[in-house]
Amino acid sequence: MSTPSFPTGTILGYPRIGRRRELKRAVESFWAGRSSVAELEEAASALRAATRERLADLGLGRTDSAIPETFSYYDQVLDAAVAVGAIPDRFSDLVDADGELDLAGYFTIARGEGDRAPLEMTKWFDSNYHYLVPEIAPDTVFQPSADRLVRAVEEAADAGFTTRPVLVGPVTLLLLSKPSSSAPAGFRPIDRLADLLPVYVELLRRLHAAGAEWVQLDEPALVNQSIEVDRSDQLTALRQAYDVLGAASPRPAIFVAAPYGSLGDALDVLAATPVEAIGLDLVRGSVPTDLAEATRARLAQKTLVGGVIDGHNVWRGDLAGALDAVLSLAELSSSVAVSTSTSLQHVPHTTEDETGLGDRLDWLAFADEKVQQVGVLARGLREGRAAVGAELDAASAALDRRRVAPGVRDGAVRSRLQGLSGGDFSRMPYADRAPVQDAELELPALPTTTIGSFPQTAEIRRARAAFARGEAEESHYVSEMRAEIRRVIDLQEQLGLDVLVHGEPERNDMVQYFAERLAGFDVTENGWVQSYGSRCTRPSILWGDVSRPAPMTVEWSRYAQSLTEKPVKGMLTGPVTILAWSFVRDDQPLAETARQVALALRDEIGDLEAAGIRVIQVDEPALRELLPLERDAQSDYLDWSVGAFRLATGGAASATQIHTHLCYSEFGVILDAVRALDADVTSIEAARSRMDVVDDIASSGFDHGIGPGVYDIHSPRVPSVDEVVELIERASAVVPERALWINPDCGLKTRGYDETIASLRNIIEATRAVRDRA
Ligand code: GLN
Ligand code: ZN
Repeated sequence: MSTPSFPTGTILGYPRIGRRRELKRAVESFWAGRSSVAELEEAASALRAATRERLADLGLGRTDSAIPETFSYYDQVLDAAVAVGAIPDRFSDLVDADGELDLAGYFTIARGEGDRAPLEMTKWFDSNYHYLVPEIAPDTVFQPSADRLVRAVEEAADAGFTTRPVLVGPVTLLLLSKPSSSAPAGFRPIDRLADLLPVYVELLRRLHAAGAEWVQLDEPALVNQSIEVDRSDQLTALRQAYDVLGAASPRPAIFVAAPYGSLGDALDVLAATPVEAIGLDLVRGSVPTDLAEATRARLAQKTLVGGVIDGHNVWRGDLAGALDAVLSLAELSSSVAVSTSTSLQHVPHTTEDETGLGDRLDWLAFADEKVQQVGVLARGLREGRAAVGAELDAASAALDRRRVAPGVRDGAVRSRLQGLSGGDFSRMPYADRAPVQDAELELPALPTTTIGSFPQTAEIRRARAAFARGEAEESHYVSEMRAEIRRVIDLQEQLGLDVLVHGEPERNDMVQYFAERLAGFDVTENGWVQSYGSRCTRPSILWGDVSRPAPMTVEWSRYAQSLTEKPVKGMLTGPVTILAWSFVRDDQPLAETARQVALALRDEIGDLEAAGIRVIQVDEPALRELLPLERDAQSDYLDWSVGAFRLATGGAASATQIHTHLCYSEFGVILDAVRALDADVTSIEAARSRMDVVDDIASSGFDHGIGPGVYDIHSPRVPSVDEVVELIERASAVVPERALWINPDCGLKTRGYDETIASLRNIIEATRAVRDRA
């Protein structure tokens, strides 16, 4: 086979939600029964066509496989699972006789239906994207389902393009999968690799037949040191996989991309396989230096694709430095290309859609601008540095302007940080303060609460949007929000919850709300990025030193508390989550930025206490997400992230009950850190995993309050009373009664009122049943 040449400039992936969130609208309208499958497919196809044209306009080649096909209706991991037929038994009726799954069936696997739980969802590496976790059984029958992959390639060809299909690679697919619940103990999905590979071979054959010259197989699992399978087994799997795929014929040339970190010893293994191109993340990782002679000789035969444009952040950055990094790859191979470090799915479409950022726009690059940066560097590679001197200089000049711009450094913030001492990070010991809180709050056994938000109805969204656009009087807006808070408080009183919330109607987003009120942040107008499925967030941009010009949440909480005798929880977003879900300045350590945010929250907690709020929740759902993939960097991260939380909460009175909320159930590596947060009560996700998580927590000796979720809010399903009773009993078998709280997995804002009321009613009824039995 003669290898087609690899394009000098490419990207690993592109946002798929659409510049105006077209895909979100199309998918949600299909889910709601307002449009047909044909209409949805047509919208998707139009979006793919627009993306190709746009990428070509921005400088990627039309016919040299530079444009990746990374469209997905929901999730790329689900796509890969479906493409190889890895569909759990409970969904097998959705697959037709030819092994194909229609779109409705695909969405059922993603979202669940009736009693059928969807696939579990979890964080994609160190990003804020969530993928669906495939389930593999010892007897999963793998079979190719190539239609969707092939269609994209053919559709591109019809429009005059040769694009590059992208698929999660076989090793990553299995390493990210979990054993199906029916699998015997000790079964590992990766042990099914030999059965899976023939299906990938067949997919490659079909893609080749459709005209694909290159295929990209993403193998990020190999950079992730927290995967539980032994490294030597991972490397064996990698060798086997790419020896088999490499030997397949006919097939497209294979480009293995390894975003989100360094390949480490996996590079030696991959170099020894027949793959034609290897992508290295040179933003998180670096150009390998101490390579074995054999690896060097092998890499010299391959195309090395330097991921030098950061797919994670929005800074325009140091373009000259990026060119140096990719040029240093030229010492390893004569065939070098430039790319992004990761898919651009983590950044918004384009800065062209922003009008409110003033001079700061010039510091930024979103997806489209990053594609252009790739174009500049590719030209630098082809024609030499001098050919792009003007572009490199312009980027450097923007960096210089950014360094000295007003607000980037604030003397008052810096001296306050300097003056902190150890005592600012601790409260009275838990054993001493817990009885003070019990006396203050007088809660029943198994206290019930929610995570904060209540359903955000169309009227609330409209009211907020009208106010944001300046179309509504402040007094009118405030009275609308107060009316909603009153409704939510009344509802909770009627349902019989113990610790109430105000419902967060005033919050568009749990980070943006604070970003809009803190100095040092910008918010965007159209900077949407996909979080999971059709869910998008609009990360704020943290560019300068952070301070709090005025209280941010106090008036809403004070009002809510004035309506009830029961405690109302104040609701704040923690420093780590504010960082994790924003695009954060890259010119100082995250630890320092986190402490600045923590101080602002500390002042807010003081003001909430002064307003009579006795329970305050500081959400840290992103604590796990920012955990570095490299083991060496983890303890330093956990030190500063825990420290920032403790700095934020350390000024609270002993009688104030501090809650925190974490959105996920995978604790393993951060359990010690969660304990070190020293929150009085921690709520976590547990319903989807049927409480598996509580065993670990209990056996670790965790003795503070814990609220494992009993209602999976990611799905429209209403849990039955019996089901909730069972979950509570599972938890209470291992968690001491005085420590156990009853709550949903997460906030309710994405749910409708009917299902929320029905679910909360069942939760309360179940809690009462368990209390009565005791
Ligand atoms: N308090 C927030 C809410 O209820 C928490 C959201 C989250 O954890 N992602 O919506
Ligand atoms: Zn949550």
